[in-house]
Amino acid sequence: AKKVLEVKNLKMYYFTSRGPVKAVDDVTFDLEKGEVLGLAGESGCGKSSIGFTLMGMPQPPGRIVSGSIKIDGREIVGLPEDVLRREIRWQKISMIFQGAMNALNPVYTIGYQMIEPLIYHRGMSREEALDKAMKYLELVGLDPEIVYRYPHELSGGMKQRVVIATALILEPDIVIADEPTTALDVVVQAQIINLMKRLKKKLGLSMIFITHDLSILAEISDRVAIMYAGKIVEIGPSEKIYNEPAHPYTQKLLAAIPRLHEDVEKLEFIPGSPPNLLNPPTGCRFHPRCPYAMDRCRQEEPKLVEVDKDHYAACWLL
Ligand code: SF4
Ligand code: MG
Repeated sequence: AKKVLEVKNLKMYYFTSRGPVKAVDDVTFDLEKGEVLGLAGESGCGKSSIGFTLMGMPQPPGRIVSGSIKIDGREIVGLPEDVLRREIRWQKISMIFQGAMNALNPVYTIGYQMIEPLIYHRGMSREEALDKAMKYLELVGLDPEIVYRYPHELSGGMKQRVVIATALILEPDIVIADEPTTALDVVVQAQIINLMKRLKKKLGLSMIFITHDLSILAEISDRVAIMYAGKIVEIGPSEKIYNEPAHPYTQKLLAAIPRLHEDVEKLEFIPGSPPNLLNPPTGCRFHPRCPYAMDRCRQEEPKLVEVDKDHYAACWLL
């Protein structure tokens, strides 16, 4: 299948007064047209940092240090900001930011907030733009008349649908969704997941779905990438990751998912905490928390190796 996104050896560091924080450290992956790639890992592992970097907007004091990001074959690393704004961001790749539904401007109507990009990027008239906004609200299962309402008049689930509609309105090929269900209750979470599955099919969207919750990804992802301390430590088809996880960290994460009818007390947890990326552990970054750590793990960094078809993991046990 056609690759809509190719990321190679990407490094994005936050340059703080105490030194560089290596939030995205030599990350390589790609995304096929119509595919959903789940990106999982504990908070602070660099998932959202990857999202912002792919949008061409690493958060200050972050900067791309090296590597390549190709969208539809076009290199975007090094493009000037005005080109990114005019040609790439929101049009080729868009992002549903974590918590965006709570950042809708309370003084403007939903319609007003949705039509701005259409007027700016597409040169539409107000009427045309409003018409398109109404179509997109319908697409995400909302009453189009919501264009005339204000954010405080909508429920959390409705606001999240507005945010999704807005991210799609310029018809990007790739959408990054950062924890899109995290602040919602369980029933609404399921509705949003179903909506995203429907949109993927209907619009042929390619998606990167970022979450700390592996149980959500099983439902929506074709492939899953597991991040630890700024690196992808395992990536492969969802059923492989869930049924035959190869990396000790993935195994731990999966053991920590509560299953229906299971005693919560029996849940495993991962001892220790994620490392400080200002000064990450030598060798395998997971070694201080890994039950299988050997001498070699403390000294040499394991590279991703293919453990099965399209399934890669970075661990000296493999
Ligand atoms: Fe554990 Fe070593 Fe594998 Fe890292 S390389 S996950 S420390 S066994
Ligand atoms: Mg995050």
